[in-house]
Amino acid sequence: MPSEQKLTVAIIGAGIVGLCTALEVQRDGHDVVIIEPDEAGGRQAASYGNGTWLNPGSVLPMSTPGLWKQVPGFLLDPNGPFIIRWRHLPSLAGWLIRFVLAGRTWQQIETCATQRYWLSRTTAQEHAALALEAGRPELIRRNGLMFIYPAQADIDAENRAWRLRQTLGIRFRKVETAELRQRVPELSDAYTLGMQVDDGGQVVDPGAYCDALFRLALSRGAMHKKARATGFSFNGNRLSAVLTDGGAVPCDRAVIAAGVHSRDLAAKAGDDVPLISERGYHVVIPDPGFDLPTGLMPSDGKMGVIWTPQGLRLAGQVELASIDAPPNWQRAKILLNYVRRMFPALAARTDAVEKNVGSDNYWMGHRPSTPDGLPCIGAASGSPDIVHAFGHGHVGMIQAPASGKLVAAMIAGRDPGYDAAPFSARRFAQ
Ligand SMILES: Cc1cc2nc3c(=O)[nH]c(=O)nc-3n(C[C@H](O)[C@H](O)[C@H](O)COP(=O)(O)OP(=O)(O)OC[C@H]3O[C@@H](n4cnc5c(N)ncnc54)[C@H](O)[C@@H]3O)c2cc1C
Repeated sequence: MPSEQKLTVAIIGAGIVGLCTALEVQRDGHDVVIIEPDEAGGRQAASYGNGTWLNPGSVLPMSTPGLWKQVPGFLLDPNGPFIIRWRHLPSLAGWLIRFVLAGRTWQQIETCATQRYWLSRTTAQEHAALALEAGRPELIRRNGLMFIYPAQADIDAENRAWRLRQTLGIRFRKVETAELRQRVPELSDAYTLGMQVDDGGQVVDPGAYCDALFRLALSRGAMHKKARATGFSFNGNRLSAVLTDGGAVPCDRAVIAAGVHSRDLAAKAGDDVPLISERGYHVVIPDPGFDLPTGLMPSDGKMGVIWTPQGLRLAGQVELASIDAPPNWQRAKILLNYVRRMFPALAARTDAVEKNVGSDNYWMGHRPSTPDGLPCIGAASGSPDIVHAFGHGHVGMIQAPASGKLVAAMIAGRDPGYDAAPFSARRFAQ
């Protein structure tokens, strides 16, 4: 056992980040209690309904230079990939200002991309290893991911981002029209070129995958406390228990991995983190009649189009509004319009799904987002025994295995092999 002392570690939240962390902490020989009121990776979790993309090249934060010029458009265009609900603007203003400031220069973006790459570079490989351990290797596909474009000019518009990926060593290649037609014959002529990220992959069914990882942790001795964490109990600044609505859970260490709901817990551990929900949607077209050779992302729709056992899943949209605001299924209908453009043969099936608005084929979830595009991973200010592991925004599936390893290293006092200081929640206190 690498750590000298056997500890009891409470993991708060059984989304993908909490689950990967639980498994890594177990590898160090510690006892684990998973505190989760709902199903692991159930519909309440972002880890259930996401775009399934495991893209090592997802290194650029959302906020990039010149974005502020587009904000008025985001407020006005009801059909774009990004919308701010007017009513919620006052409560989001502080986060938005930090968001725009975080992406003012390309130097900031390059620094951020390098830090994100530490958490994403081996994502598909690491998920494949976990799925194998869980006895469900078929849940991870490793056949790359493809961005698709109407024309060369659309690739050129993203040149800077592709060059940055190349500098970091991310492998990708251009897919010419003939190959695109041959690989995705169902795709409309509106898209003529692709950019394939070779080391990318896909979690075929994220809900089932989380469930498999949860069962794996239980089979290795983890306990499940079916309750909601509400706070902490301390002796001085040393942790004695996590408080829940089902009683106290005595423990030596706690990891806050409650996704978008981590903000209040982090505050109780001494850190005021600007964490909001970037709400996103998915809609599923059952029985599309074809599989996809790889996950697709149309450059105009900025959404994941992926095959899942439930059907063709279209996942995307960013909607800034409060966590509690009801879903606006109009956002999901925008996704349906893109699929009509991409796959004309699916028009009748798409119409049928559209008629059943709000059915199980529709989902809305919360990306737990910080304004600077980096997660919070590291010891809490209020106690060295509480470790933050939240705020992964658009890339929590991608970054979860490396985040779990980093948290385990921090608990064990091991050097993770890179500088993890940029992930500290203390950056927001400066
Ligand atoms: C539309 C959409 C598309 C996306 N596409 C991708 C993608 O393609 N690739 C990618 O990498 N990422 C993607 N993401 C982001 C990704 O889904 C998230 O970053 C990731 O799932 C966050 O995982 P998490 O474990 O932090 O949070 P969650 O999955 O939300 O899990 C948090 C868990 O904590 C529990 N919890 C909450 N409060 C408490 C409490 N008080 N006590 C105990 N438990 C609690 C919840 O019940 C939940 O189970 C997407 C997100 C969305 C919405």
